[in-house]
Amino acid sequence: MPFPPSPRDGIEWSKLSAAIQVNGHIQSRWSRETGIWSEPEFIQDPFLRVHGLAPVFHYGQEAYEGLKREAFRALGGEIHIVRPDFHASRLKHSSSLVSIPPIPKEHFLRCVHLAVGINAEFVPPNDTEGMLYIRPVVFGSGACILLDSTDEYPFCVYIITAGAYHGVEPLDALILEDFDRTAPRGTGSGKVGGNYSPVMLAKSEGFDITLHLDSQTRSEIEEFSTSAFVGVKVDGANITLVVPDSQNVMSSVTCDSVQHLARSLRWAVERRPIEYEELLHFSEIMACGTAVTLVPIKSITRKSTPDKFIYQNGNKEPGPCARKLAAMLQDIHKGRAKDTFGWLTEKMALPPQWGVEYIGIITPMNMKKSG
Ligand SMILES: *Cc1c(COP(=O)(O)O)cnc(C)c1O
Repeated sequence: MPFPPSPRDGIEWSKLSAAIQVNGHIQSRWSRETGIWSEPEFIQDPFLRVHGLAPVFHYGQEAYEGLKREAFRALGGEIHIVRPDFHASRLKHSSSLVSIPPIPKEHFLRCVHLAVGINAEFVPPNDTEGMLYIRPVVFGSGACILLDSTDEYPFCVYIITAGAYHGVEPLDALILEDFDRTAPRGTGSGKVGGNYSPVMLAKSEGFDITLHLDSQTRSEIEEFSTSAFVGVKVDGANITLVVPDSQNVMSSVTCDSVQHLARSLRWAVERRPIEYEELLHFSEIMACGTAVTLVPIKSITRKSTPDKFIYQNGNKEPGPCARKLAAMLQDIHKGRAKDTFGWLTEKMALPPQWGVEYIGIITPMNMKKSG
């Protein structure tokens, strides 16, 4: 059977939810004994058997990545992944923050390819809004109650299906004042569990999205809870994109791509500290991340002050810059525009040893490995 297989029949792609059971995930393990990451394995069972004394549970020793909308079917049906190398570097960085052995880039890329490959029938057709979400995660699993590095680290790459995200409607943001996401010189630049669970309860009080100031001085803009901050200044025909420069924010692949696109349009790009007061001077603000792509912000409120900044007159439509950048990004991702930046992987193929028996309509009968 040729690779990749066609999208699976009978799926309503625009109404996809994470509830769809995909074929399985990929696992590789680092052990102290070998000091290397094992050959990737295909595991059908989404559940993991982990010792209850593993440091992931007690000390939050885990790091993850998120590649949403980043595995695409191009016009001809072939599958590409968007900028997986960026995610490989970021996972290495996140792992280093929580004492997890680094996953070499080539190994990361291979595992991500395999995870998408064995689930290729769930990569939605080009002309639908459904999407695939790739979720790599690595954690300390050896039983070890000492605050010491453990013996074993599983690295898993999960695939989740997701429906269209109708997220282009501009959002109202709230600046969080009684909760700081991360400390200076802390772990804020890493996708590590501890940075996220506290945010779940941070009160958004009816707002759509929360914005964090720097926790040391509360005078500079850092980022939204799960997406990057991008401000746009318009001065006549001159457009400038401004992004925060801070040690504590996540380096965002979407924000990075947006900066490249802006430069290609001959817009100026400034990466520098952004004072809170500067919120007055932006004509558009966007939240960027692979989960949302690029969502316009229509207001920012800081409750301890009378401040409420309004953008694009509080319109329900995205501003012109957000619309332009989102369209350009989509066109490259969908293969409608030339990828002049080299962001898309080569046309994907599964390594021969993974054999076509993993592809197409998979039944437990023709699976080789399962757990
Ligand atoms: C993942 C994440 C982002 C967005 O990064 P992308 O690589 O664009 O998806 C921004 N901020 C935080 C805190 C994040 O966790």
